[in-house]
Amino acid sequence: MTAEILSVGTELLMGNILNTNAQYISQRLCDLGINCYFQTTVGDNHDRLIDAVDLALSRADLLILTGGLGPTADDLTKETIADAFGKELILDPPSLEHIRMRFARMGHEMTPNNLKQAMFPLESTILPNLNGTAPGCIVEAEGKAAILLPGPPKEMVPMFEASVMPYLQNRSGYTLVSRVVRVFGMGESEVEYRLKSLIGRQTNPTVAPYALSGEMKLRVTARCKNNEEGDRLIAPVLAEIQETLGDVIYSVDDEELHVACAALLKAYNVTIAVAESCTGGMIASKLVSVPGISEFFLEGAVTYSNDAKIRCLGVKKETLAEHTAVSAEVAREMADGIRLAANASLGLATTGIAGPDGGTQERPVGLVFIALSSNCGTTVRELHLTGNRERIRNAASLHALDLLRRHLLKYPENC
Ligand code: AMP
Ligand code: MG
Repeated sequence: MTAEILSVGTELLMGNILNTNAQYISQRLCDLGINCYFQTTVGDNHDRLIDAVDLALSRADLLILTGGLGPTADDLTKETIADAFGKELILDPPSLEHIRMRFARMGHEMTPNNLKQAMFPLESTILPNLNGTAPGCIVEAEGKAAILLPGPPKEMVPMFEASVMPYLQNRSGYTLVSRVVRVFGMGESEVEYRLKSLIGRQTNPTVAPYALSGEMKLRVTARCKNNEEGDRLIAPVLAEIQETLGDVIYSVDDEELHVACAALLKAYNVTIAVAESCTGGMIASKLVSVPGISEFFLEGAVTYSNDAKIRCLGVKKETLAEHTAVSAEVAREMADGIRLAANASLGLATTGIAGPDGGTQERPVGLVFIALSSNCGTTVRELHLTGNRERIRNAASLHALDLLRRHLLKYPENC
């Protein structure tokens, strides 16, 4: 099966917007092993669109069109495809109802030209649009098919994932199975470097790295006939990734770091309390987002001022005076203090300079101390983080959670 992508819109030809739809669709076709030999971009012009569609139908089995499904006169994609496939346009009442309700919800009047968005070539499969008014559709005739999708990427991508992928998987006889490995504590370039030969060697499954804020993901995707075959293809590649990267991997099921921590707290039946300064409750909030955490997460304190650190955590006045609030000593006393106050097995603490103000030459923005207190001692780490306030705070909370995760991995030798 070969496909051709037709991007419809004069704004694309004029360079007003970048054709991200074609890039995205090409990637997904590639994932499915469907060949795409041509991408065509054509303006909002009936005659030239007809020409482009005829040419595409002469050399591909499947046409994927984006754009031109809107209510205005220059939106011609459905009309043109109806002509090319020799089908008349008919009204789909459920789509009309959906469009009416969307207008009503937004408190707008539905103008008559919107009726157009509920008209489809006869015998189309209609693709619901959960993020906009114009539904998409699939039109089939004589072994060929055209898939019509809305232009805005925030409507097109979810529709593609929900409706087009299953259709294409079905038509191509292939499905995709993927696993997502999550990594913290090793930079993207080092991960890529270590996995270079593996990534280069793989065609099925493929291994694709993605950077997230402060951490990264590897998506391992197999093209296969069914889930069992997918699992079988993925297993050795996953094992090689785990062997190569070791304990910087915190999940092979796309779980977030705090979810992995919560699972470990539960597995070892360990309780925790957190005292946060620069992260201001981010760690507590992440942990509390996990259902069932109440048995293990006892309390969180946002102790921002020196007074709060003294009053709630028992941090010593002298320690603050001698070392300042952003110091290894204060982080240690915060972690010990919250553990004792909450009567928890573990105490986790953060203190740092998130910026943009408050930094000095010796104590720059991004200097953060994290500490983990347990019955067998207290570990303190000094971090030098970069980025804006938001990034620093997020990275500090991830580092603290990773300190917790690594401590729990050594259970029960650790206490
Ligand atoms: P349309 O459905 O043709 O009216 O397109 C509506 C909007 O979707 C355009 O104004 C663009 O912002 C966006 N859009 C259309 N086609 C593309 C494309 N190929 N890539 C990215 N954005 C697009
Ligand atoms: Mg348009």
